[in-house]
Amino acid sequence: MPLVDGFGRVHRDLRISVTDRCNFRCTYCMPADGLEWLPREHLLTFEEIERIAALLVHRFGINSIRLTGGEPTVRANLPVLVEKLAGLEVDLALTTNGATLGLLAQKLADAGLRRINISLDSLQPSRFSQLTRRNELHRVLDGIQAALAAGLEPVKINVVVMRGINSDEVVDFARFGREHGVEVRFIEFMPLDADESWSYDKVVSLQEIVETVASVFPLAPPERSHSPAEVWHYADGQGSFGVIASVTDAFCGSCDRVRLTAEGMFRNCLFATDEHDLKALLRSGASDDAIAAAVSESVSQKWAGHAINQVHFIRPGRSMSQIGG
Ligand code: SAM
Ligand code: SF4
Repeated sequence: MPLVDGFGRVHRDLRISVTDRCNFRCTYCMPADGLEWLPREHLLTFEEIERIAALLVHRFGINSIRLTGGEPTVRANLPVLVEKLAGLEVDLALTTNGATLGLLAQKLADAGLRRINISLDSLQPSRFSQLTRRNELHRVLDGIQAALAAGLEPVKINVVVMRGINSDEVVDFARFGREHGVEVRFIEFMPLDADESWSYDKVVSLQEIVETVASVFPLAPPERSHSPAEVWHYADGQGSFGVIASVTDAFCGSCDRVRLTAEGMFRNCLFATDEHDLKALLRSGASDDAIAAAVSESVSQKWAGHAINQVHFIRPGRSMSQIGG
């Protein structure tokens, strides 16, 4: 039975945060001192994650799972979890800051990972260090090469575009994608930063990003894809790039995502203000039926959209790193 909400949207895509911890401190995501990490016993175990994921796949037809965080690669033995989830025969992907992929990419690929998104917001070493508060651009660039060498396909690069911060690098990133055979996905800056420095004037719109790229690299006519990213192909056939217009052209009307946080809270939207505590159910010995009922109830309560652009928008109480991007 598919997971359908009150607006008829069918949910097929599960995002699982495997940890709230991170080895970076990106200014738009985490405070300089980090956040108060969850005690280890509060995190779902791999067995608990596998049970919930299997239930969602087998009962509700979830067919796509993305592991995220915090930084998923700081969770010990991540390839073990990847191997368990790969057994569910879903489209399995990972979002990572890429810094440890030099060591991990091949192990993840061997465990059954297929696709990967690597976040990178500046190609300039000093700006990268300011943005992430870590001097590790070289490690992320090595990580991208390691992901390609391990045969992960596609390798996508997530770039959060922020006006006055890295918006002058849009063309550099487009060139980087073309030269390295990776698809860059520009993401509009969302109000999920931990220090609440977001403001609308820092959002660079889809339209502006596309015009900037097109002014240097001519584009083929656009095609609407089924994913939140709109994809443009270069007119000369040398690859493509995507834009996730989560602020100026929200894709809520066709959203098919649900989320599980590292501590086992089930969320029906990135911007949800309510959560269902699946860990409490699991640890109190609940049956699969009871867990499935909680999931169905959460999805049935999903709202039409996030309303970032409207006066009644309410910021969720968690930052992006705590929800999982
Ligand atoms: N640590 C991993 C990483 O950086 O890829 C996974 C978690 S991170 C929260 C997931 C994605 O969310 C990243 O691509 C990151 O750039 C993006 N992100 C974080 N804060 C954001 C914000 N305020 N607006 C838009 N995207 C954001
Ligand atoms: Fe960490 Fe990813 Fe957030 Fe950066 S965006 S602080 S790498 S969780």
